[in-house]
Amino acid sequence: MRIRTTDVPLRLNTPAALRRWSLRCHAAGMSVGLVPTMGALHAGHLSLVERALEECDRVVVSIFVNPTQFAPGEDLDRYPRTLEQDLALLATAGAHAAFLPAAGDMFPPEFATAVRVGDGLSDRLEGASRPGHFNGVALVVAKLLVAARPDRAYFGQKDAQQCALVRRLAADLDTGVEIVVCPTVRDSDGLALSSRNAYLTAEERVRARAIPAGLAAAAACFESGERDAAVLTATVRDVLEAAGAAIDYVAVVDPEHFKEVETPGPGCEILVAARMGNTRLIDVLQLG
Ligand code: AMP
Repeated sequence: MRIRTTDVPLRLNTPAALRRWSLRCHAAGMSVGLVPTMGALHAGHLSLVERALEECDRVVVSIFVNPTQFAPGEDLDRYPRTLEQDLALLATAGAHAAFLPAAGDMFPPEFATAVRVGDGLSDRLEGASRPGHFNGVALVVAKLLVAARPDRAYFGQKDAQQCALVRRLAADLDTGVEIVVCPTVRDSDGLALSSRNAYLTAEERVRARAIPAGLAAAAACFESGERDAAVLTATVRDVLEAAGAAIDYVAVVDPEHFKEVETPGPGCEILVAARMGNTRLIDVLQLG
């Protein structure tokens, strides 16, 4: 098969088309990188694409607002959809293919399979706040790994619990896929880029700086010797509360098992989920 770079990005609309594309890449001796996204692409997503392009011969970016990972009442209907702009960004970035399935292509009416990652990874913290969310994530990631058959798949550290869950899933299912976790890309004032930042009013956007500021204050405490997780989380809470954020959780975890730790060491992560007005934002900083 000829894979023409002038077709960038090649549009693939069904899991079967994605699978055929990947098999042709592999048959031509090329490695494949997968970057799963829900679209409304920003520089954070593009950093994953760039990393994938550095490490893989061919890169496919999936754009799919996965209905199974939204709970009833969440923002599925109003989630930003900017497909043509996304494709232009992917063309500029040099991604080779875009996987753009319709919901019915991924989940036809007869679809009956569930995927669930245990060991508390789906239930704690983000999973407790968003019941069912990680079952939807696990299901769609499993389907993407099966269809795309990538050598590597790229995820953002910002969604730290998702990274832990995907690593477990990829290992448990013997996929052989290397899960690559990429650093968080931030705005100049520290706020992590997120498609959901588009929901913020100008005033909320200013107050949202408290999220990275609170995390940075806790990291500074840690650096000056504080090892009590309760003190570190209280530091974050104080900054968030002063900015009028509604806190969902602040926690310190070991990144491998995603269990809360009382006496964190270097490498542990401090997590935040908070609402600014109606917009729920998450962030994470590694300690040490
Ligand atoms: P999403 O479209 O929000 O589902 O995100 C798709 C992928 O991009 C996930 O692996 C995210 O963790 C990652 N991502 C989102 N925001 C950022 C960011 N600011 N920096 C780096 N990666 C990100």
